[in-house]
Amino acid sequence: MTSDTATTLTVGALSAGPGTKVRGSVRAELGTLTTDVPVALINGSRPGPRVVITAGVHGGEFTGIDALHRLAGRLDPEQVRGQVLLCLVANPPAVYNGRLGTSPLDGININRVFPGDPEGSPTERLAAWLFENIIEGADAFVDLHAGRIDEFLRNFVGYRLTGDQELDAKTATMASVVGHEDVILGLNPDGGNSHAAAARLGIPAILVETGQLGERDPQAAERVVAALLRVIDFLNGDDVESRPVTEWVWAAFLASEAIGLWYPEFVPGTDVTEGQVIGRVVDPADGREHEVLAPATGRVFYGMRGLTVLPGTDLAAIAAPR
Ligand SMILES: [Zn+2]
Repeated sequence: MTSDTATTLTVGALSAGPGTKVRGSVRAELGTLTTDVPVALINGSRPGPRVVITAGVHGGEFTGIDALHRLAGRLDPEQVRGQVLLCLVANPPAVYNGRLGTSPLDGININRVFPGDPEGSPTERLAAWLFENIIEGADAFVDLHAGRIDEFLRNFVGYRLTGDQELDAKTATMASVVGHEDVILGLNPDGGNSHAAAARLGIPAILVETGQLGERDPQAAERVVAALLRVIDFLNGDDVESRPVTEWVWAAFLASEAIGLWYPEFVPGTDVTEGQVIGRVVDPADGREHEVLAPATGRVFYGMRGLTVLPGTDLAAIAAPR
């Protein structure tokens, strides 16, 4: 589907006619409460695809939100081809209240429940609202994430293979245009990530992870802005330089088995071997150490930097070369 720029770009009560830009917030009903989702609608004066970009799906991940705020200010509808729909804070309860990956409303990680449930919990309803109002009408979709306040992260792009070769090839090029060195593939489009649910609808969809530890980093935000402008140009058929990338697949997600103090022995980008000690969880009551072993050989792309952990706390995510 290619959007017709003669049509108005509408989200809820907000709409932008051809050649105009509108910023505002749109109210999502979450059952017994509501949340106001800030969006920017840039409806170009020339034809082209509808590109949808979300940030603030998780709390404590600031780079993408900052980048979309900058991009919303800069995109000129007179210059834009097609339509650009920016959702600056997709999950306001998690972003403003908890600043965590899970929502304080119901403890749910929204990026595990797409396409959502309009009759479900507040977060499941928000996912359904975002999917129906923001994501579903996209010709291409980018979801921006970062390492959270207590999370190490090495920049990467993620996407899912669908088995549709034309779609997968387009998504692969979109991923390489971002400019991050590493691309992590999911071998099927299953699961509750927004980019997976979008891929199941045939939408080229990528996850872009940039920055870590909740850092306020204007340079990282500007790199994301430049990456998004390249992606938009590529989607409009321009000859955009696609960088060589290294492809990976997820090999292991390691969670803590113990409560206590976490002393990692890696940084993002460290290569580890299965069985290697990659950190220790220390019981503050008696000082005893529990060794934490790498469950797979590969490279750590993100992990916990915070000192205190519980059973089930994510400690490290490891990917292996494809
Ligand atoms: Zn995230």
